[in-house]
Amino acid sequence: MSNRPIYLDNHATTPVDERVLNAMIPYFTEKFGNAASISHVYGWESEAAVKQTREILATAINAKPEEIVFTSGATEANNLAIKGVAEAYFSQGQHIVTVATEHKAVLDPCEYLRNMGFEITILPVQKDGLIDLELLKKSLRHDTVLVSVMAANNEIGVLQPLAEIGKICREKEIIFHTDAAQAVGKIPLDVEALNIDLMSLTGHKVYGPKGIGALYVRRRNPRVQLAAQQHGGGHERGMRSGTLYTPQIVGFGKAVEIAILEQETENQRIGELKARLWKQLSAVEGIYLNGHPQKRLAGNLSISVEGVDGAALSLGLQPIAAVSSGSACSSNNVAPSYVLTALGYPEKLAYATVRFGIGRFNTVEEIDTVAKHFITTVKSLRSSLVRI
Ligand SMILES: *Cc1c(COP(=O)(O)O)cnc(C)c1O
Repeated sequence: MSNRPIYLDNHATTPVDERVLNAMIPYFTEKFGNAASISHVYGWESEAAVKQTREILATAINAKPEEIVFTSGATEANNLAIKGVAEAYFSQGQHIVTVATEHKAVLDPCEYLRNMGFEITILPVQKDGLIDLELLKKSLRHDTVLVSVMAANNEIGVLQPLAEIGKICREKEIIFHTDAAQAVGKIPLDVEALNIDLMSLTGHKVYGPKGIGALYVRRRNPRVQLAAQQHGGGHERGMRSGTLYTPQIVGFGKAVEIAILEQETENQRIGELKARLWKQLSAVEGIYLNGHPQKRLAGNLSISVEGVDGAALSLGLQPIAAVSSGSACSSNNVAPSYVLTALGYPEKLAYATVRFGIGRFNTVEEIDTVAKHFITTVKSLRSSLVRI
């Protein structure tokens, strides 16, 4: 373990917290019952465990337990939300509004619907990664059935103004969906205060297991209709059939419970680690922060580095730090990230981007080690850069 690189890619996924794993283990073996079995204790204990996670998730976002629909993750939750609304509200309109920097799990279902004949408006973002609320207002039409804007961006960590978006959508009686895969357990989320009608959640970005997520579906004021995208035994009130994956559901609940409990202290600690990292990196010339400096996740530090090739930097960092890196504009034809492109990046040769995702298990020592190595790597790449 000790010579593996330091993990700073917590927006891609997170390790399962031991407390989460311990809660899950009995549900693989002794408590293996089908939560839909109503005739014996095996079923009852699984059903009770599922109920508990429903309550934890509902409490976390100020919803009701009946409004939680379990899915395999945020990708499925986004698909169910977007296609489910498109199909259920077909007679009322076929126009959907989303944003250029959304996760592919939102953009691709929208693209699918576009091919089916729907009209999709993809809003641009401002330089800081946030949407322009006036543009959003202007984009809404009498036949708009859905607005989908993410809570926290997975690349640049910026937090969209959910309260304002929710208010605009509610006034126009348009359904508001938010992809909160990166946000749950990291920032406060309240579906009532924010006027959110549909919210996608996932376990593995918050120290829970992979392969489990949920969609919050508002039941009152208004009651959101969804067309099922997976048919079968009628589980989850007919919205998502399939035997519930009890161990994963238990882990998801435990993970969210811990994250909510520790949210404030963790944000403080992780925020300090990020500030420490940024202090060291920003001392180097030609390193810039991507996205809004304050309105972002505590653990996100997305930066651009001038005068360095993205692929070379990635290679140089690999032995020491597991980060996500790419090229905004590179000499070797590495495609720029569509998220950074949407921020309006200048066309520059040799321009690298790196996303640091700081998480629960990172330490001060790790941050200092990575900062030191990063700076050395950038300096050596710059000194060897051949300028033509
Ligand atoms: C990770 C992620 C997803 C996909 O979630 P899965 O649970 O892996 O399907 C969707 N949206 C955002 C913003 C994400 O960060």
